[in-house]
Amino acid sequence: MTLQGLKEKLMRSVLKDPENTIRAAYALRPELAGTPYYEAPMLGCAAADDPLFAQFKADPNIYGSALRLPEEWLPDAKCVISVFLPFAEEVRRSNTPDLEEPSDQWLHGRIEGQAFLEEICRRIAGWLEAEGYQAVIPAIHEDFCIRRDPARKELGQPVFASNWSERHAAFAAGLGTFGLSKHIITEKGVCGRFGSVITDAPLEVTPRPYTEPYEYCTFCGACIRRCPVNAIFPEGKDVELCSDYVDDTCRRHAPRFGCGKCQLAVPCTTRIPARLRRKTSDD
Ligand code: SF4
Ligand code: SF4
Repeated sequence: MTLQGLKEKLMRSVLKDPENTIRAAYALRPELAGTPYYEAPMLGCAAADDPLFAQFKADPNIYGSALRLPEEWLPDAKCVISVFLPFAEEVRRSNTPDLEEPSDQWLHGRIEGQAFLEEICRRIAGWLEAEGYQAVIPAIHEDFCIRRDPARKELGQPVFASNWSERHAAFAAGLGTFGLSKHIITEKGVCGRFGSVITDAPLEVTPRPYTEPYEYCTFCGACIRRCPVNAIFPEGKDVELCSDYVDDTCRRHAPRFGCGKCQLAVPCTTRIPARLRRKTSDD
Protein backbone atom coordinates (compact mmCIF):
# COMPACT_ATOMS: atom_id res chain seq x y z
CA MET A 1 0.00 0.00 0.00
CA THR A 2 1.39 3.42 -1.01
CA LEU A 3 0.16 6.80 0.17
CA GLN A 4 -0.87 7.62 -3.41
CA GLY A 5 -2.80 4.34 -3.62
CA LEU A 6 -4.52 5.18 -0.35
CA LYS A 7 -5.44 8.66 -1.61
CA GLU A 8 -6.99 7.23 -4.77
CA LYS A 9 -9.03 4.66 -2.85
CA LEU A 10 -10.15 7.38 -0.43
CA MET A 11 -11.20 9.68 -3.25
CA ARG A 12 -13.39 6.97 -4.82
CA SER A 13 -14.73 5.90 -1.45
CA VAL A 14 -15.88 9.39 -0.48
CA LEU A 15 -17.17 10.68 -3.79
CA LYS A 16 -19.04 7.58 -4.95
CA ASP A 17 -20.75 6.61 -1.70
CA PRO A 18 -24.47 7.39 -1.34
CA GLU A 19 -23.86 7.66 2.42
CA ASN A 20 -21.98 10.86 1.61
CA THR A 21 -25.41 12.48 1.20
CA ILE A 22 -28.30 13.26 3.53
CA ARG A 23 -30.47 10.14 3.44
CA ALA A 24 -34.25 10.33 3.13
CA ALA A 25 -34.59 8.01 6.15
CA TYR A 26 -33.41 10.67 8.60
CA ALA A 27 -33.63 13.98 6.67
CA LEU A 28 -35.05 16.83 8.75
CA ARG A 29 -36.96 17.90 5.63
CA PRO A 30 -37.74 15.63 2.64
CA GLU A 31 -36.18 18.04 0.14
CA LEU A 32 -32.79 17.71 1.86
CA ALA A 33 -32.44 14.07 0.82
CA GLY A 34 -29.51 13.62 -1.56
CA THR A 35 -27.66 16.76 -0.41
CA PRO A 36 -23.93 15.91 -0.45
CA TYR A 37 -21.93 16.23 2.76
CA TYR A 38 -18.38 16.40 1.48
CA GLU A 39 -16.28 17.34 -1.52
CA ALA A 40 -12.99 15.69 -2.56
CA PRO A 41 -10.97 14.66 0.52
CA MET A 42 -7.40 15.52 1.50
CA LEU A 43 -5.02 13.04 3.08
CA GLY A 44 -1.61 13.58 4.69
CA CYS A 45 0.80 11.40 6.60
CA ALA A 46 3.17 12.17 9.49
CA ALA A 47 5.90 9.92 10.85
CA ALA A 48 4.70 8.47 14.15
CA ASP A 49 8.03 9.40 15.74
CA ASP A 50 7.91 12.96 14.43
CA PRO A 51 9.29 15.06 17.32
CA LEU A 52 6.30 17.40 16.92
CA PHE A 53 4.03 14.95 18.78
CA ALA A 54 6.34 14.90 21.81
CA GLN A 55 6.55 18.69 21.61
CA PHE A 56 2.73 18.98 21.60
CA LYS A 57 2.59 16.77 24.69
CA ALA A 58 5.49 18.37 26.57
CA ASP A 59 4.35 21.95 26.16
CA PRO A 60 1.13 22.82 28.01
CA ASN A 61 0.97 26.03 25.98
CA ILE A 62 0.58 23.92 22.82
CA TYR A 63 -1.46 20.96 24.09
CA GLY A 64 -0.07 19.24 27.17
CA SER A 65 0.23 15.94 28.96
CA ALA A 66 -3.31 14.73 28.16
CA LEU A 67 -2.17 13.93 24.62
CA ARG A 68 -1.23 10.31 23.95
CA LEU A 69 1.69 9.86 21.59
CA PRO A 70 1.15 7.72 18.46
CA GLU A 71 3.16 4.85 20.01
CA GLU A 72 0.92 5.00 23.09
CA TRP A 73 -2.01 4.16 20.81
CA LEU A 74 -0.11 1.57 18.78
CA PRO A 75 3.29 0.40 20.09
CA ASP A 76 4.71 -0.32 16.61
CA ALA A 77 3.25 2.83 15.06
CA LYS A 78 5.08 4.13 12.00
CA CYS A 79 2.62 6.66 10.58
CA VAL A 80 -0.26 8.93 11.48
CA ILE A 81 -2.66 9.36 8.58
CA SER A 82 -4.80 12.49 8.74
CA VAL A 83 -7.93 12.91 6.60
CA PHE A 84 -9.81 16.12 5.88
CA LEU A 85 -13.30 16.00 4.39
CA PRO A 86 -14.32 19.52 3.26
CA PHE A 87 -18.03 20.26 3.55
CA ALA A 88 -19.86 20.54 0.23
CA GLU A 89 -21.03 23.91 -1.03
CA GLU A 90 -24.69 23.17 -0.20
CA VAL A 91 -23.80 22.58 3.44
CA ARG A 92 -21.59 25.66 3.62
CA ARG A 93 -24.06 27.95 1.85
CA SER A 94 -27.00 26.85 3.99
CA ASN A 95 -25.24 27.77 7.24
CA THR A 96 -23.95 31.18 6.15
CA PRO A 97 -26.75 33.80 6.33
CA ASP A 98 -28.18 33.14 9.82
CA LEU A 99 -25.57 34.07 12.41
CA GLU A 100 -27.30 32.27 15.27
CA GLU A 101 -29.05 29.06 14.35
CA PRO A 102 -27.32 26.19 12.54
CA SER A 103 -28.94 25.20 9.24
CA ASP A 104 -30.54 21.78 8.90
CA GLN A 105 -27.84 20.76 6.42
CA TRP A 106 -25.14 21.78 8.92
CA LEU A 107 -26.83 19.83 11.72
CA HIS A 108 -26.83 16.74 9.51
CA GLY A 109 -23.22 17.35 8.51
CA ARG A 110 -22.14 17.65 12.12
CA ILE A 111 -23.82 14.40 13.19
CA GLU A 112 -24.45 12.04 10.28
CA GLY A 113 -21.57 13.63 8.32
CA GLN A 114 -19.29 12.93 11.29
CA ALA A 115 -20.53 9.33 11.35
CA PHE A 116 -19.62 9.05 7.65
CA LEU A 117 -16.12 10.42 8.40
CA GLU A 118 -15.71 7.76 11.09
CA GLU A 119 -16.80 5.13 8.59
CA ILE A 120 -14.18 6.44 6.15
CA CYS A 121 -11.52 6.08 8.87
CA ARG A 122 -12.72 2.49 9.48
CA ARG A 123 -12.37 1.80 5.75
CA ILE A 124 -8.81 3.17 5.70
CA ALA A 125 -8.00 0.95 8.70
CA GLY A 126 -9.61 -2.01 6.89
CA TRP A 127 -7.54 -1.45 3.72
CA LEU A 128 -4.36 -1.41 5.82
CA GLU A 129 -5.39 -4.47 7.84
CA ALA A 130 -6.18 -6.37 4.62
CA GLU A 131 -2.49 -5.95 3.74
CA GLY A 132 -1.40 -7.30 7.12
CA TYR A 133 -0.80 -4.00 8.92
CA GLN A 134 -2.25 -2.82 12.22
CA ALA A 135 -4.41 0.29 12.40
CA VAL A 136 -5.95 2.25 15.28
CA ILE A 137 -8.50 5.07 15.06
CA PRO A 138 -7.99 7.12 18.25
CA ALA A 139 -11.31 9.02 18.07
CA ILE A 140 -13.37 5.82 18.23
CA HIS A 141 -10.95 3.73 20.29
CA GLU A 142 -12.21 2.49 23.67
CA ASP A 143 -9.40 4.42 25.39
CA PHE A 144 -10.39 7.74 23.86
CA CYS A 145 -11.39 10.16 26.60
CA ILE A 146 -11.73 13.80 27.46
CA ARG A 147 -10.52 14.88 30.87
CA ARG A 148 -10.84 18.03 32.94
CA ASP A 149 -7.61 19.72 33.94
CA PRO A 150 -8.15 23.02 35.83
CA ALA A 151 -4.41 23.87 35.49
CA ARG A 152 -4.94 24.34 31.76
CA LYS A 153 -7.30 27.25 32.37
CA GLU A 154 -4.47 29.29 33.93
CA LEU A 155 -2.47 28.80 30.72
CA GLY A 156 -5.33 30.14 28.60
CA GLN A 157 -6.09 26.62 27.34
CA PRO A 158 -9.50 24.90 27.37
CA VAL A 159 -10.07 23.21 30.72
CA PHE A 160 -11.12 19.98 28.96
CA ALA A 161 -8.52 18.10 26.92
CA SER A 162 -8.85 14.85 25.01
CA ASN A 163 -6.08 12.31 24.68
CA TRP A 164 -5.93 12.78 20.91
CA SER A 165 -6.22 15.89 18.76
CA GLU A 166 -7.29 15.64 15.11
CA ARG A 167 -6.13 19.20 14.53
CA HIS A 168 -2.62 18.63 15.84
CA ALA A 169 -2.39 15.38 13.84
CA ALA A 170 -3.45 17.30 10.71
CA PHE A 171 -0.79 19.96 11.34
CA ALA A 172 1.88 17.28 11.75
CA ALA A 173 0.67 15.48 8.60
CA GLY A 174 1.17 18.54 6.40
CA LEU A 175 -2.51 19.33 5.87
CA GLY A 176 -2.43 22.90 7.18
CA THR A 177 -1.78 25.35 9.97
CA PHE A 178 -3.91 26.72 12.77
CA GLY A 179 -6.01 29.83 12.34
CA LEU A 180 -7.19 32.37 14.90
CA SER A 181 -10.49 30.47 15.18
CA LYS A 182 -8.38 27.38 16.14
CA HIS A 183 -9.47 25.49 13.07
CA ILE A 184 -6.91 24.08 10.69
CA ILE A 185 -6.58 26.08 7.47
CA THR A 186 -5.94 23.63 4.63
CA GLU A 187 -5.60 24.19 0.88
CA LYS A 188 -9.35 23.56 0.82
CA GLY A 189 -10.00 25.89 3.74
CA VAL A 190 -11.21 25.31 7.29
CA CYS A 191 -14.75 24.16 6.68
CA GLY A 192 -14.97 20.40 7.15
CA ARG A 193 -14.13 17.52 9.46
CA PHE A 194 -10.85 15.78 10.35
CA GLY A 195 -10.17 12.15 11.22
CA SER A 196 -7.03 10.07 11.67
CA VAL A 197 -5.66 6.55 11.64
CA ILE A 198 -2.43 5.39 13.31
CA THR A 199 -0.73 2.46 11.59
CA ASP A 200 2.44 0.39 11.47
CA ALA A 201 2.39 0.55 7.64
CA PRO A 202 5.56 2.30 6.37
CA LEU A 203 3.88 4.99 4.26
CA GLU A 204 5.52 7.99 2.65
CA VAL A 205 5.53 11.03 4.92
CA THR A 206 3.87 14.19 3.57
CA PRO A 207 6.18 17.24 3.60
CA ARG A 208 4.93 20.19 5.64
CA PRO A 209 4.95 23.27 3.39
CA TYR A 210 5.02 25.52 6.50
CA THR A 211 7.10 26.02 9.61
CA GLU A 212 4.98 28.25 11.84
CA PRO A 213 1.81 27.10 13.68
CA TYR A 214 -0.30 30.02 12.37
CA GLU A 215 1.44 30.48 9.03
CA TYR A 216 -1.72 30.33 6.87
CA CYS A 217 -3.78 32.73 9.03
CA THR A 218 -3.73 36.41 8.07
CA PHE A 219 -5.31 37.44 11.39
CA CYS A 220 -7.86 39.38 9.33
CA GLY A 221 -10.39 39.05 12.16
CA ALA A 222 -13.30 37.98 9.93
CA CYS A 223 -13.98 34.95 12.14
CA ILE A 224 -14.23 37.24 15.18
CA ARG A 225 -17.12 39.10 13.58
CA ARG A 226 -18.95 35.87 12.65
CA CYS A 227 -19.13 34.44 16.17
CA PRO A 228 -22.55 34.87 17.83
CA VAL A 229 -21.08 34.77 21.36
CA ASN A 230 -17.80 36.63 20.83
CA ALA A 231 -15.76 33.56 21.66
CA ILE A 232 -12.96 34.60 19.29
CA PHE A 233 -10.86 37.68 19.93
CA PRO A 234 -7.52 38.96 18.61
CA GLU A 235 -5.55 37.16 21.32
CA GLY A 236 -7.25 33.78 20.86
CA LYS A 237 -10.44 31.86 21.53
CA ASP A 238 -12.52 31.08 24.60
CA VAL A 239 -13.13 27.41 23.83
CA GLU A 240 -15.49 26.95 26.77
CA LEU A 241 -17.71 29.81 25.63
CA CYS A 242 -17.82 28.22 22.17
CA SER A 243 -18.54 24.80 23.62
CA ASP A 244 -21.34 26.17 25.85
CA TYR A 245 -22.94 27.77 22.81
CA VAL A 246 -22.75 24.57 20.81
CA ASP A 247 -24.27 22.70 23.80
CA ASP A 248 -27.05 25.26 23.80
CA THR A 249 -27.85 24.49 20.15
CA CYS A 250 -28.36 20.88 21.26
CA ARG A 251 -31.14 22.02 23.56
CA ARG A 252 -32.94 23.50 20.55
CA HIS A 253 -32.00 20.90 17.93
CA ALA A 254 -31.56 17.67 19.91
CA PRO A 255 -30.28 15.14 19.17
CA ARG A 256 -28.21 17.26 16.79
CA PHE A 257 -26.08 20.32 17.49
CA GLY A 258 -23.58 22.58 15.78
CA CYS A 259 -22.52 26.13 14.97
CA GLY A 260 -19.53 26.60 12.64
CA LYS A 261 -20.40 30.23 11.83
CA CYS A 262 -16.73 31.25 12.21
CA GLN A 263 -15.81 28.88 9.34
CA LEU A 264 -18.17 30.52 6.85
CA ALA A 265 -18.01 33.69 4.75
CA VAL A 266 -14.41 34.24 5.86
CA PRO A 267 -11.28 34.37 3.67
CA CYS A 268 -10.19 30.89 4.83
CA THR A 269 -13.54 29.11 4.31
CA THR A 270 -12.41 27.15 1.25
CA ARG A 271 -8.74 28.10 0.75
CA ILE A 272 -5.58 29.47 2.26
CA PRO A 273 -6.31 33.20 2.41
CA ALA A 274 -4.25 35.60 0.36
CA ARG A 275 -1.78 37.30 2.64
CA LEU A 276 -2.69 40.92 3.25
CA ARG A 277 0.04 43.37 2.44
CA ARG A 278 1.32 44.67 5.73
CA LYS A 279 2.05 48.35 6.13
CA THR A 280 5.75 49.13 6.22
CA SER A 281 7.61 52.12 7.60
CA ASP A 282 7.93 53.34 3.97
CA ASP A 283 4.10 53.72 3.63
S1 SF4 B 1 -10.99 34.38 9.24
FE1 SF4 B 1 -9.01 35.44 9.09
S2 SF4 B 1 -8.29 35.55 11.24
FE2 SF4 B 1 -9.93 34.01 11.21
S3 SF4 B 1 -8.85 32.05 10.94
FE3 SF4 B 1 -9.43 32.76 8.89
S4 SF4 B 1 -7.66 33.93 8.12
FE4 SF4 B 1 -7.39 33.66 10.35
S1 SF4 C 1 -18.22 27.49 16.46
FE1 SF4 C 1 -17.74 28.49 18.42
S2 SF4 C 1 -16.20 30.05 17.90
FE2 SF4 C 1 -17.15 29.42 15.97
S3 SF4 C 1 -18.81 30.89 15.66
FE3 SF4 C 1 -19.70 29.15 16.76
S4 SF4 C 1 -19.58 29.68 18.93
FE4 SF4 C 1 -18.20 31.05 17.81
